[in-house]
Amino acid sequence: MATSDTIVAIATASGDAAIAVTRLSGPDAVAIAARHFRGARDPVASGSHRILFGSFVVGAAVSGDIRLDTVLLSVFRAPHSYTGEDVVEISSHGGPAIPRSILEALTRSGARAARPGEFTERAYRNGKLDLAQAEAVAAIVRARSDRSLRAAHATLGGDLSRRIEVLDAELVTILAEVESRIDFPAEVREAAEVAALAARSAAAATVLREWISRLPSARRREEGVRVAIVGAPNVGKSSLLNALLGYDRAIVNEAPGTTRDTIEASIWIDGTEIRLTDTAGLHAATDPVERLGVERSERAAAAADLSIVVRDCTRPDAGAAESERFQATASGPVIVAWNKRDLAPSPVAPAAASEVTEVETVALRAGGVDALVAAIRAALPRVLGEYAAAELPATSLRQEA
Ligand code: GDP
Repeated sequence: MATSDTIVAIATASGDAAIAVTRLSGPDAVAIAARHFRGARDPVASGSHRILFGSFVVGAAVSGDIRLDTVLLSVFRAPHSYTGEDVVEISSHGGPAIPRSILEALTRSGARAARPGEFTERAYRNGKLDLAQAEAVAAIVRARSDRSLRAAHATLGGDLSRRIEVLDAELVTILAEVESRIDFPAEVREAAEVAALAARSAAAATVLREWISRLPSARRREEGVRVAIVGAPNVGKSSLLNALLGYDRAIVNEAPGTTRDTIEASIWIDGTEIRLTDTAGLHAATDPVERLGVERSERAAAAADLSIVVRDCTRPDAGAAESERFQATASGPVIVAWNKRDLAPSPVAPAAASEVTEVETVALRAGGVDALVAAIRAALPRVLGEYAAAELPATSLRQEA
């Protein structure tokens, strides 16, 4: 599809950086860039996939050229570009000032500021990417872990789209055969033929069901594993979060029930983002603010992929009922951290045979953090699914639908 206007955007992140790339796409991309370029070679005469060295100039009309920066112009001719249109990428120095001046100069010369995702939208419209691939571009940009990056790359490569095409073709064939037998019942020859069709439908359904069953773990790979740190007030949840993070992100307070809101922070284990949520104590609260925090913590715990239930060695009975209730309702794996091990022995033998992994910690001195991280690592295959990332490139809710 031909688009009439030429769009422009700064393609790199804002902030201090050595270089920035400003990208133009559309029928006038080369002409607009050429208006601001002074170099040994003319962009308008340039072929595709050429890099030209020169200056970016502004204000040529009245005061003559004002040289803004030394730039490299990368020229891509339609249809051999990301969007399928003429594309020019201007590599300049980074920082906030120069890219913004370049952008302003190009918009004054007739380019329109692109909407978010508009380059990829054009690539999709021009048949350079299919919808799953376009989504994968967004997933790559947003990727929070090595695994999700690999999965997004597999989707971008067209893996998912190809597999869906194969399955789609199979389903259409099955449907056509079934319909022809309904329309012409006399054609139904043998029971074996019908059985073969039924087997093919069952096989297709199995493949579909398997994909769908793996989707939650694919989403976890992309978005990170949500870990809720729960337990009674004052057992050391905030201290444990700090110990895991290695810095004071959470506010630790001596008065029970002071961590009233949830606090989120991330660590990475084996390339997977572990999103830790420190919640207010799971207990029967009376104070309305406290009650709000507890409700939030219950929600966080219910939504978590993995839970760390913190217990206090000095008060083994504190929060026992809540902890047990929580362990019974948790959907994902549960790790019990017996904290304040420095003050009292833990009531559980470390080797206890149990469904639940138990570790001993001294959150205050970051003691036992290695064991806790090891327990989280050991639980990851269950949370993420045992599948290799590339096996399941599906990454979005649209694909799930
Ligand atoms: P939370 O309410 O569960 O988040 O508990 P905090 O992390 O705020 O800790 C409550 C109190 O217990 C604070 O005074 C901490 O210093 C203390 N504390 C936390 N972990 C330990 C530990 O392993 N050993 C000792 N001795 N004190 C701890």
